[in-house]
Amino acid sequence: KKMGRNTAHIYNQNDVLSKELQASMEWARTIHQAVADDNLILHFQPIYHIASKQIAYYEALVRLELDDKIIMPGEFIPALEREGDMNLLDRQVISKAITYLADYPQLTQVAINLSAQGFSDERLLPFIEEKLLEYQVNANRIIFELTESASLSNISATQVIIEKLSNLGCAFSIDDFGTGFSTFTYLKQLPAQSVKIDGSFIVDLANNSVDLALVKAIYEVANALDKKTVAEFVENEQVLNILADIGVTYAQGYHLGKPQAVDTLFE
Ligand code: C2E
Ligand code: MG
Ligand code: MG
Ligand code: MG
Repeated sequence: KKMGRNTAHIYNQNDVLSKELQASMEWARTIHQAVADDNLILHFQPIYHIASKQIAYYEALVRLELDDKIIMPGEFIPALEREGDMNLLDRQVISKAITYLADYPQLTQVAINLSAQGFSDERLLPFIEEKLLEYQVNANRIIFELTESASLSNISATQVIIEKLSNLGCAFSIDDFGTGFSTFTYLKQLPAQSVKIDGSFIVDLANNSVDLALVKAIYEVANALDKKTVAEFVENEQVLNILADIGVTYAQGYHLGKPQAVDTLFE
């Protein structure tokens, strides 16, 4: 525009459209194509009930299959967030997770991650209702994981959506708890059944007394609010034992099981 109207201009590396923005747009295009080609796949990671040592449910984690490579969500989710396209990914994941729930009764319950963008999309609720009906899946087999940032941007709107999905029978969990802001206030206001303690507090729990104090504090508050606790990133038996002593209900991590395709889970 600086060059005046009605002039054509070929972009080069020095242009304002930064490399980062271009990369985001590329990813958004790639994901749109992947949705069309059905190249977004789900891996499932078991979540154990600590006291009974039984699998309680599974978390669905998205991956992109591209030219025989598997690309992790950390690569493309930030780009999709920037482009405002997370609702597309979320709906694809919900739809796939529901077809798996229909096909695999062994998948007792599945936790599905929802982004802030996906969550604030008004078409989300009717979409979920439609898919549950189409595949005859009971809503009580779904737990939605919301990060604090997803749930917190607009607390009253969030409460309304959670209430509606809860009325269908879905459960809610606050993901990555402890990494956001104003955590205890929101914890008090959100009708979620469980709190997932962020993995950064768990990985080194056996050696870090500050982490231990924080995990105990989160457990106490969650417990006082009648919410179950889940620990992610459980990488060894020592950490699992500490969590059991504290009273944390569920554990997830490489020590207990890696995310994998559903056919290898139940082979
Ligand atoms: P998250 O929801 O907190 O998921 C847990 C992440 O930790 C997963 O990474 C999982 O593979 C990894 N993990 C599991 N056990 C361990 C462990 O013992 N140690 C360590 N270091 N890591 C472990 P992943 O699959 O790469 O996903 C990263 C994040 O991307 C997720 O974090 C979630 O925020 C987002 N995400 C993944 N799938 C979806 C999805 O379908 N929809 C949305 N909206 N977000 C998703
Ligand atoms: Mg999660
Ligand atoms: Mg998490
Ligand atoms: Mg996490």
